[in-house]
Amino acid sequence: MDSQSANEASRDTSVTIMEFSPAGEPIGLRTVARITDDPDWKSKLSPQSYSVTRRHATDPPFKVPGYDSKDSGFYRCICCGTALFSSKDKFDSGTGWPSFTAPLAKENVATREDLSYGMRRVEVLCARCDAHMGHLFPDGPPPTGLRYCINMSALDFLPLSGESLKKEKK
Ligand SMILES: [Zn+2]
Repeated sequence: MDSQSANEASRDTSVTIMEFSPAGEPIGLRTVARITDDPDWKSKLSPQSYSVTRRHATDPPFKVPGYDSKDSGFYRCICCGTALFSSKDKFDSGTGWPSFTAPLAKENVATREDLSYGMRRVEVLCARCDAHMGHLFPDGPPPTGLRYCINMSALDFLPLSGESLKKEKK
């Protein structure tokens, strides 16, 4: 990966992310404080969500409810609520993990090289709070050819309302 890319995981104290309305429409870029250490995460999150997002664990495939959902809506970071992925970019990869061809907004998702387990992979993180999301692979379908392989336990699904669904079809 290009180490100069704008959304490289960083140690900065603030980050510029795209804000979205409850209906999932982009509102604009906003610079917000990064949240990299919240003592309440352990009590706020389920044990599995905590293990995945804060301890780099991986969901068992085909097991976590919602991984294969085809409902329209948005997937937000389970830790900080930042909107990360859309059902529009979701596809069935057959892996048992939610898979996306692109992030909802490139600003909201960070990446960094992951050399753990003797593999060279690209880790996907929430740009605001550093939550571990999953990994990025170059074997996805068109139009991007990318596969964001994400743990369902790291995501909070927000379905679109009936009204928003109509707007989506415009
Ligand atoms: Zn987050």
